[in-house]
Amino acid sequence: MLAKIWNGEGFYKMEKKKKKVKVIKIDVEKCNGCRACEVICSAFHANPKYSSNNPGRSRIRVHFDPLRNIYVPVLASHYTPAECAGRNTYILDQVEHDECSFCGASCPSRELFKEPDSSLPLKCDMCEDDPPQEKPLCVQWCIDDALTYEEREEEVEEEVKLDEMEIGLESLVERYGLQKVIDTVVRMSKKS
Ligand code: SF4
Ligand code: SF4
Repeated sequence: MLAKIWNGEGFYKMEKKKKKVKVIKIDVEKCNGCRACEVICSAFHANPKYSSNNPGRSRIRVHFDPLRNIYVPVLASHYTPAECAGRNTYILDQVEHDECSFCGASCPSRELFKEPDSSLPLKCDMCEDDPPQEKPLCVQWCIDDALTYEEREEEVEEEVKLDEMEIGLESLVERYGLQKVIDTVVRMSKKS
């Protein structure tokens, strides 16, 4: 039986669909801290394109711990209007790092991932372009393969709006069975 959902505007059903998911994998061990990814990302997103580069406008930032020589590229993710209440700690190579060091959110507690002039949040858009780039530019410019690109398909559930006829037919099928509905429609079409 089809599960119908009323959302105040109409009936919907949930449908499973294949969705292409784009992933940038980060191998911290391979990052040499060259920051080429920051340069090309900010240049690609400059207006006009490639007219300037300013890592402050980059959607990828390389976190650097000078004492341990650790470089961790972090991609800009979502915007959040409030900073989170908790703080977790990461231990890498026996050194404690604040969770904020590796967080991709544009949040009020820091300047990272905000456009320097307007303070608008920055988010990685996977270098969407027309025509599309073969790979995101930070991946293309990362000569040490610390960044690699993958596309995969995932199954997701999406709301699909049902029109009135579909709802009516569905209830007839539920009541009389699909074959009987088909036979009736065929019989009716022969009469008309
Ligand atoms: S381009 Fe690659 S190696 Fe250079 S800083 Fe960025 S992620 Fe690290
Ligand atoms: S994928 Fe594109 S937008 Fe995202 S961080 Fe890399 S260069 Fe910037």
